[in-house]
Formats: sequence, C-alpha cells, structure tokens
Amino acid sequence: MRKQVIAGNWKMNKVLNEAEQFVQTAKNEVPSEEQVESVVCAPYPFLHTLVKETEGTPLKVGAQNMHFEESGAFTGEVSPVMLKDLGVSYVVLGHSERRELFGETDQDVNKKVHAAFKHDLTPIVCVGETLEQRENNETMNHVESQVKNALDGLSDEQVKQVIIAYEPIWAIGTGKTSSAEDANEVCSHIRNVVRAFSSEEAAEAVRIQYGGSVKPANVDELLNQSDIDGALVGGASMEADSFLKLVEAGK
Ligand code: 13P
Repeated sequence: MRKQVIAGNWKMNKVLNEAEQFVQTAKNEVPSEEQVESVVCAPYPFLHTLVKETEGTPLKVGAQNMHFEESGAFTGEVSPVMLKDLGVSYVVLGHSERRELFGETDQDVNKKVHAAFKHDLTPIVCVGETLEQRENNETMNHVESQVKNALDGLSDEQVKQVIIAYEPIWAIGTGKTSSAEDANEVCSHIRNVVRAFSSEEAAEAVRIQYGGSVKPANVDELLNQSDIDGALVGGASMEADSFLKLVEAGK
C-alpha cells in the first residue's frame, strides 16, 4: 500500500504572519505521519520560520523550486544546500508555471531532481499537458516524455522515492478538474512508463499525485482511484480548514 501524500502549494501568496497562523492551526491537527504525509510548500522567505514551528509535528515543509547548483554566482537563486540546511523536506520541481513563465526545460528539471537526491530532499516532480495537447490527443506522449526526461539517470531506489504530480495545465486554478477516471488513466499511464523505464518495484512504490482544482468536494473521488496517491493543491490549500479536510481524506 502506498501512503497518500497531500501537499499544499501556496505559490506566491501570503505574508509571514499569515503563513505562521496557518501552521499554528494545522500542525497539531494533521493526522499522524503513519496515516498520511502532509506537506505545505511555501515561499522561500517563510521556510525557516515554518520549519521551526512545525518541528516534531507531522506537518512537513517544502519549497516550490530551487536551483540545481550548490552555490555560486546565480543572483536571486536558492540552492538545495540552503534548503537542506533549513530543514526543508520536500521540493516541488518543474511546476508548469516554472516551465511556462520562467522557461524551465526538461533538462533543468532533471538536474534539479538529481540535486534534490544529493541533498536528501524529496522531489515532487510536476508534469502535465496543455489544453491544446489534450485536444490533439497528445497527453499520454507528452506526459511520458516529461516523466522519462525528469527521471533520467536515477537509480531504482531513487525512483521509488520520487513523487510525481500529474497536473493538467488546463485544470490549474480554473475550477475545471479532470474527471477522476481521466486523471487516473493518465496516472496509470505514468506508472506504466515508470515500470518500463525503471522496474516493477519502482512502479509499485512511486507515488503519483493529481493536481488541478482539487478541493474538499472532489478529493475523495480522486484519491479513491487506483493510481492516484495524493494531491498537489493550490487554491484549496490556502486556508487551514480546507487543507485539513484534504489531508483527512488522504488517511
Ligand atoms: P489549483 O489547486 O489552484 O488548481 O492549483 C494546482 C497547482 O498548480 C498546484 O501545484
């Protein structure tokens, strides 16, 4: 049985005080780590405070991006060494907003995934198609190529620890959710890609989240699907009450 992982992605929202209030409410209410993994992926300036405030609780903290280099002349960037030093546990990599708005390539994402493992951070690797690709029946090929490129060069043991987030771009922040069956079909394809690319054991172990307008009203149906092992959530992860409902569904 794969453990569900529910991760909130706050994107570029909140100020420190709001972030602190969120974790103060949520940190003692989330289920135990044995039941479900609960993660909030926060903007860089809040990470230090949030890690300190959640120490010893089941609520874990993730970043939303990082550079693949360890240090150097990369003005404005944040390295995996810095995240690890702060006590961050997870990092979202290759989110569609990073790919579309900041020009991140599959090769960048692959370098970041390797850097995450080098520094003991769990990568949440995002893949997903545009509306145009979906309408042209390119979803499966596109997602397959993103997954293969992202995981290139990883050992089987590493692949088992990766979290893949399938986020159809047309469903992000639009209120349009993929039907649970459609989402599961793509997640099941992703698992088959991992099976062919890596191993049977890795395919059975890898967790695949769905993301795109997940909310308390639709989360149960999505998480009940055979190949969906959690959710990566934007809008509905912003308020502690709503986030707590989502993690409860992951138990
Ligand atoms: P929404 O849940 O707001 O659609 O965002 C999804 C997302 O992009 C999470 O990474």
